[in-house]
Amino acid sequence: MSTTNGKIALITGANKGLGFETARQLGKQGIKILLGSRDPAKGEAAAATLKSEGLDVTPIQLDVTDSPSIRAAVQKIEAEYGKLDILVNNAGISLETFESRPSTTSQETLRKTYDANFFGVIELTQAFLPLILKSEAGRIVNLSSVLGSLTEHSDPNSFIYSVLSLAYNSSKTALNAFTVHLAKELKETSVKVNAAHPGWVKTEMGGEGAPMELEDGAKTSVELATLPADGPTGGFFHLGQTLGW
Ligand code: NAP
Repeated sequence: MSTTNGKIALITGANKGLGFETARQLGKQGIKILLGSRDPAKGEAAAATLKSEGLDVTPIQLDVTDSPSIRAAVQKIEAEYGKLDILVNNAGISLETFESRPSTTSQETLRKTYDANFFGVIELTQAFLPLILKSEAGRIVNLSSVLGSLTEHSDPNSFIYSVLSLAYNSSKTALNAFTVHLAKELKETSVKVNAAHPGWVKTEMGGEGAPMELEDGAKTSVELATLPADGPTGGFFHLGQTLGW
């Protein structure tokens, strides 16, 4: 029995956390889910859980910092489906703490963070773009963070003003720039490109002290992944609210 509505979504880093919950919520809408995971065993296990809930989910090995892995995933999806409707660039890393200081951020931390959160997202998105352009209504969602907002960082009253984790924060600022630039390049097409701040969410990255549960944390990604034709492109959103860059 086919449970899908014909739409195909790829979510990176979907073996746990926000990516996993985004896969679940999109799957519940009847969308065929390609569940990206850098570790094939973790991807199989996560896909099995969602399949047991009645969703149409296929795991796919995908390390966003590994070019051969990206190329292999593109070839597989092209051969099997010939298009991609939704790409959720969810995979990301944070190697710092709230106490981290830009005066001592190491080159290694900067480079590793940028590899996963910025360069990897761009390489993967560029590689999948020809397939996304074959969709009638392509949607690209980049998982950013309010910590990437220079508007918030410039405001002494902002709740993130004192968070100085340079590598993570600036990697998301750079990702926001990619979002804006790609959205402008694609503005005459049916593809929409937006940035999502999920909220501060209880995941391995967000930690136990985060105020938001997974179910609400995935909502912004799901909304942007399923925007109607008259929806926005080139924006930065959290639960329907526009955030400042
Ligand atoms: P998480 O629980 O740590 O999960 C991150 C996911 O990304 C995991 O599946 C991880 O795989 C995967 N990943 C890491 N590096 C990868 C790579 N090179 N290739 C492929 N997959 C990779 O984090 P999360 O909280 O769900 O975060 C998801 C996204 O939301 C991130 O982009 C994050 O920056 C953003 N975000 C989160 C929060 C929050 O409060 N949680 C707030 C703002 C933004 P492994 O299991 O193999 O490590």
